[in-house]
Amino acid sequence: MQNPQTQSLSSLQLRRLTAVCVMMFAFFSATTTQASTQIKDVRLWTAPDHTRLVFDLSNSAEYELFRLHNPERIVIDINNAKMSTNAAKLELPDPVLLSIRYGSQKGNATRIVLDVREGVSPRTFLLKKSDAKPHRLVVDLYPKPNQPVTNNVMASHQKNRDIIIAVDAGHGGEDPGAIGKNKLQEKKVTLAVAKTLAARINAQPGMKAVMVRDGDYYVSLRNRVKKVRELGADMMISIHADAVDTRSVQGASVYTLSESGATPDRVAAALAAKENAADEMGGASPEAEVDDPFVRGILGDMAKRDGLDSSELLANIMLNHLKEANLPIKYDRPKHARFAVLTTLEIPCVLVEVDYISNPKRERLLSDSKHQSTIADSMYTASKTFFTRMGRLQDRADTYHTVNHGDSLWSIAKQYGVSVNEIRKVNRLERSSLKVGQRLQMPQS
Ligand SMILES: [Zn+2]
Repeated sequence: MQNPQTQSLSSLQLRRLTAVCVMMFAFFSATTTQASTQIKDVRLWTAPDHTRLVFDLSNSAEYELFRLHNPERIVIDINNAKMSTNAAKLELPDPVLLSIRYGSQKGNATRIVLDVREGVSPRTFLLKKSDAKPHRLVVDLYPKPNQPVTNNVMASHQKNRDIIIAVDAGHGGEDPGAIGKNKLQEKKVTLAVAKTLAARINAQPGMKAVMVRDGDYYVSLRNRVKKVRELGADMMISIHADAVDTRSVQGASVYTLSESGATPDRVAAALAAKENAADEMGGASPEAEVDDPFVRGILGDMAKRDGLDSSELLANIMLNHLKEANLPIKYDRPKHARFAVLTTLEIPCVLVEVDYISNPKRERLLSDSKHQSTIADSMYTASKTFFTRMGRLQDRADTYHTVNHGDSLWSIAKQYGVSVNEIRKVNRLERSSLKVGQRLQMPQS
């Protein structure tokens, strides 16, 4: 907020500047007035709960925002700025934002008009220039709230409900994560693996996957934790891919949250610092959810002893399954560090760096859907093994039936007391025909 004094001062300065510009124009008629801020690019990220517009700026700028109704509009005036990109490239309309227009205002400002749906509320903030990103103006548009989101925390205390696994694809939207030599972005690999993993989990009766993000948009580390809590998840797998300067380095590693007082691990700490910086790239609204008691203690040591012990077990099982799938392993033991996304969750959670995207050979594999499936499969079997060991899943899940002469899906289903559809789902069968000798996994009854 500006006080009236600075406002009048700046408009005086502006008038002086305009006067100078008019004189310049008179002398050098070919030269146009120069706005000091260039709006160099604009990007749109559509998340399920909001839409994010990001404007790249050549330098930090002052802006003003106000709303107009009938029709519903949000107006942003960026002082002393010039649009040097074409916003027509944005894919609009999206669920919140209908269209975008802009033009020059008196005094060198650029006015951006967003045509939005009824009841949309905006939240804006500036992000400072970083190594990889310029100054940015972020405009988050939240749709009119329907019913309050149902709180599923209580659901976690119900007996006999499905096991809920939160699948967290690292990075997204403004934050590409690590980038390979051939430009493969970590955020794409993590989402592809996460989607495959979620599909595997959802095909298993008794297990349900929830995705922290299911598209190309950014979710702040705080909101990731909040979402996992709200969904009442029993476990979380956070998926990432690492990068280092040495191109030959390869292999997966599994991380858990460090206990306070654990031996500091320089490599793990550096990695945690890197992953924790995601908010800087992805853009976390500074005032967002600060007052939420669940997440206020994000940097405090709230992790429960139980969560840590079972995380360690989960991490070991995860490493074993990755090894069994013949994936190269970087560190043979789970490593520990203070990852923001793992803190304050008292459920077992691990962060898996699936490989090094900085290794061109591994980068090529990481972009391959078959390889992504191999990674997702081993994460899935690890989760199943973990919950079987915890007594939450019965060993029946690992029962197999070898097809004999005269067997049909229907007769096998009857024999095991399960449904034909469940057998098809678990074995990903597209057709009903079976071959003698074919091995089928039996779902839990
Ligand atoms: Zn990452």
